[in-house]
Amino acid sequence: MCGIVGYIGNRNAYDVLIQGLKRLEYRGYDSAGIALEGFDGQLRVYKAKGKVSDLEKAVEGKDVTGTLGIAHTRWATHGVPNNVNAHPHLSQSGSIAIVHNGTIENYGVLKEALIREGYTFKSETDTEVLVQLIEYVKVKNKCGLFDAVREALHQIEGAYAIAVIERDDPDTIVVARKSSPLVIGVGENETMLASDATPIVGLMDKVVYLKDDEMAVIRRDKPLQVLSLETNHPSDFDIQTLKMSVAELEKGGYETFMLKEIFEQPDRLRDCVRGRILDDGAQVVLSGVRDNRKRFLEANRVVIVACGTSWHAALIGKHIIQDMCKLPVEVEYASEFRYSGPIITDKDIVIAISQSGETADTLAAIQLAKNKGAFVYGICNVVGASIPRNTDSGTYIHVGPEIGVASTKAFTGQVTVLTLLALCAGQIRGTVDEEKVRMVGQALMQMPETVKEVLKLDGQIQQLARTFTYAHNFLYLGRGYNYPTALEGALKLKEISYIHAEGYPAAEMKHGPIALIDSEMPTVVIAPTDSLYDKIVNNVQQVKSRGGAVIAIVNKGNASMQDMADYCLEIPEVPECLTPIVASVPLQLLAYYIAKYKGRNVDQPRNLAKSVTVE
Ligand code: GLU
Repeated sequence: MCGIVGYIGNRNAYDVLIQGLKRLEYRGYDSAGIALEGFDGQLRVYKAKGKVSDLEKAVEGKDVTGTLGIAHTRWATHGVPNNVNAHPHLSQSGSIAIVHNGTIENYGVLKEALIREGYTFKSETDTEVLVQLIEYVKVKNKCGLFDAVREALHQIEGAYAIAVIERDDPDTIVVARKSSPLVIGVGENETMLASDATPIVGLMDKVVYLKDDEMAVIRRDKPLQVLSLETNHPSDFDIQTLKMSVAELEKGGYETFMLKEIFEQPDRLRDCVRGRILDDGAQVVLSGVRDNRKRFLEANRVVIVACGTSWHAALIGKHIIQDMCKLPVEVEYASEFRYSGPIITDKDIVIAISQSGETADTLAAIQLAKNKGAFVYGICNVVGASIPRNTDSGTYIHVGPEIGVASTKAFTGQVTVLTLLALCAGQIRGTVDEEKVRMVGQALMQMPETVKEVLKLDGQIQQLARTFTYAHNFLYLGRGYNYPTALEGALKLKEISYIHAEGYPAAEMKHGPIALIDSEMPTVVIAPTDSLYDKIVNNVQQVKSRGGAVIAIVNKGNASMQDMADYCLEIPEVPECLTPIVASVPLQLLAYYIAKYKGRNVDQPRNLAKSVTVE
């Protein structure tokens, strides 16, 4: 959610920052801005509501020289998206500029206090309060920028990743983080900072992931200094090598990132299981589980916390873990978890799932679970994110950067990892027999080929999407493992096409939604030939007898459904627990093409953010 970038070095900072902002666009934002500083002692600040391209238009003909700068894509939390509220924000005297990702909880009281001291405010943002406070402290204590930022942050409650620069010092950027990500790129005579590594890729390959409650001082031609916000003592930091390539960030010939990400699922699912399934499928090895055998042996219960698409993956994970591990599993919305008085003990395993590994609600749930003594296991995609750094153990899904805001490959990757986890833990617990492990393990190894087969439905789905582009409502039905698939299919359509869609457990339809069915309301039914197939056939008949159109996802060669449903999309047969992976792919494509034909911005749907780093 929102992004910050900063640069200091010998290049033109504007070019580096604009490229960086563009790479961060996928996170979702509503306005953008930049502050540049050259050696002429001037801060040049430009802002624009809308896209980074609007910012570029706004600066046409303006002075964009300078070798130091900070920039921002804002996702408004305090004050509407407009030019004034866009970042960077300047202090009263105009001598300090800040970009901020996050929220400041106690900005109201601080603002009142500063107004009493004679400060005036231009914007409605919490961020402007922070930059004014920094100036206030600096003047009052007659100290340097670093000490002023540090002292001001001690008075702040909330979440932040910030970068601060000062008109009188064109050689320094001060940064800090608490509960919002910040990465520093370390190059030869140049340094960058960003909300994630994507703006740094291709420019520098050494990075430092700033930890919570750390500050850093980035000085031109000087080594990076990282300090504890609390003690002000230097902190140890690891310089890591970035493994991401520029090619990985690009669309690879597809019209959008989302389409690319749907189509690369065969390769990414191969990456996801690589080295984790041994002995021709008979053994599943996740070091995060194996290294904590005792925890998995002694556990009484599993609680999975997640939000959005990850929550749907969690619901599928619940079925699989209960089946393979014979452990009760509860699934909670991370945002509700800490307000529900959760009963968590040291015999619980809490699994936290988030693509970005930065979801604020999930991080808060992790903290609570840890405080209660649970063993916390993270499942995330972004290497080095906050989830892997704040959990006891975990597994990366390794599906590569997901840029499209609507999650696709991360969802199938999460379900894959949850399946691996269930198999590995089930083997340790002796609750799953070898034959079953082999059957599911082999099917997972085969999954890239299976998904390739499913992707051949592309042409048929494009046709179907044309037929349904103008529907105003959609119903998605599934049972058992595929009830969450129905939820996910509906979410995809809502997110990118803005068509209202609901996912329901098929048998619940008669308890309400059936009243909505008419010739205008298409129903998508996920109906692989599994243990609940016969029951779902009844649901299809109920829809048909009320004049509703049915699009059915069925296994290849299912002739009986061909007679009932209006349209059938045929998918290969896989073990029941893996049907959500296979069935979700046509649903991704259906949502994609309907949104495309409606002319939506598929990669950056309105109001949505990729990485939700605010509560
Ligand atoms: N709270 C700040 C604002 O509303 C920053 C939001 C963000 O993270 O983009 O301006």
